[in-house]
Amino acid sequence: MEICLIAPEAARFRGQEHRLGPPLFPPLGLMIVAALTPEHHNVSIIDESAEPTDPTIEPDLVGVTAMTAAAPRAYEVADGFRARGIPVVMGGMHASALPDEALEHVDAVVIGEAEGLWQQLLADFDAGGMRPVYRHTSFPPASSIPPARRDLIDTRRYIAKYVLQATRGCPFACSFCTVSTFFGRTLRTRPLDDIIAEASRFKGGPVSLIDDNIMGHPAFARELFARWSEVGKSFWSQASTTMLNAPELITQAANAGCKALFVGFESISSAQLAKVGKRFNVVEKYEELIKRLHDVGIAVAGSFMFGLDGDDEDTFERTAEFAERAQIDVGQFSILTPLPGTRLQRELEDAGRIVERDWSRYDGTHCTFRPVGMTAEKLEAGLHWVYERCYSWSSIMRRVGRRITPLVWMVNGIYNRRVAKWLADVRGQPGG
Ligand code: SF4
Repeated sequence: MEICLIAPEAARFRGQEHRLGPPLFPPLGLMIVAALTPEHHNVSIIDESAEPTDPTIEPDLVGVTAMTAAAPRAYEVADGFRARGIPVVMGGMHASALPDEALEHVDAVVIGEAEGLWQQLLADFDAGGMRPVYRHTSFPPASSIPPARRDLIDTRRYIAKYVLQATRGCPFACSFCTVSTFFGRTLRTRPLDDIIAEASRFKGGPVSLIDDNIMGHPAFARELFARWSEVGKSFWSQASTTMLNAPELITQAANAGCKALFVGFESISSAQLAKVGKRFNVVEKYEELIKRLHDVGIAVAGSFMFGLDGDDEDTFERTAEFAERAQIDVGQFSILTPLPGTRLQRELEDAGRIVERDWSRYDGTHCTFRPVGMTAEKLEAGLHWVYERCYSWSSIMRRVGRRITPLVWMVNGIYNRRVAKWLADVRGQPGG
């Protein structure tokens, strides 16, 4: 059987060709699904962030996966194949949260993680009796994650070529986040031998550990960092601010070769953090955490969100000033987004505050609910202003001027160009 797995690109919805540059990561989720596929099937992967889907191909089965912003494009792709009689299966966060909606466009939905379910679905399909819904009753063990099929992807197309997942889940449950709903609050860890073996096979580095909280299980993180020298490559990953509770872990990560961490600060207001279930972020400790990371040579990519209840029009400037004062190496800013399946979505829905149902606008750059403290237009304009300011060369120099490394310089340069392109595009399109 010929199986084609497709990662739809939100920007291609309705034929748009909006591209800001090469994609960051290869589609790891689909590379793992491909590895789960029994060997007697032929699998291919199309990642629309790197190439368009050829609408004339004729596989026996198509699999699509999508986060919410890409769901309309996933449905567009699925509708096209089904119109030609080719069955389509959908998995991923959006279809798992809204399976009934997805089933209007596809033949079957995989709810939750693919391990076990995908093999069952293929066996049923082979036997001519695919069910509409495949759902786990518990989270599969992380030991069932196979090495990803890198051979199906041209990694030269990506900025960060070598991707790997060591853990799944997060012990926390921030109200806006899909991770603990989809992967659970128990952090499941892959066997260390599997991780080290997979990372050791990469032809280069650094390795991107696509984990939601690489230090969320401190004992596991300690063992992982202790063994990472066997890989002989640097790495970067994502971690919560709670790593400050075990500062020796930060040093161990640096000694193991950690060059950067993505950290979800989200807000510089304790009151706002409490409202989104992120009380464990201690605003007064942010600068200490950033300094500790910098002292051991780890760059900080900080995430901040706007539109939380309590934010006002001054929040943008205060956040930009904080990013500069604390010397955040790379800032990622977004508008709070009530993604389906999250507690935030239910809260805003109950309060009658969700005003946007076009999923393509659930991308973190559009306001999809009625904010308090400012209008939706001011919220979007504030996001644009923060990006423009923080990626001006003067702000970049204030943030990283004293610690320029090739990595930090390269990433800020990419952001500087992409932000300029994005804002030109947004400002050129009314309501864009
Ligand atoms: S700490 Fe990060 S990954 Fe974990 S629930 Fe909160 S936002 Fe999600």
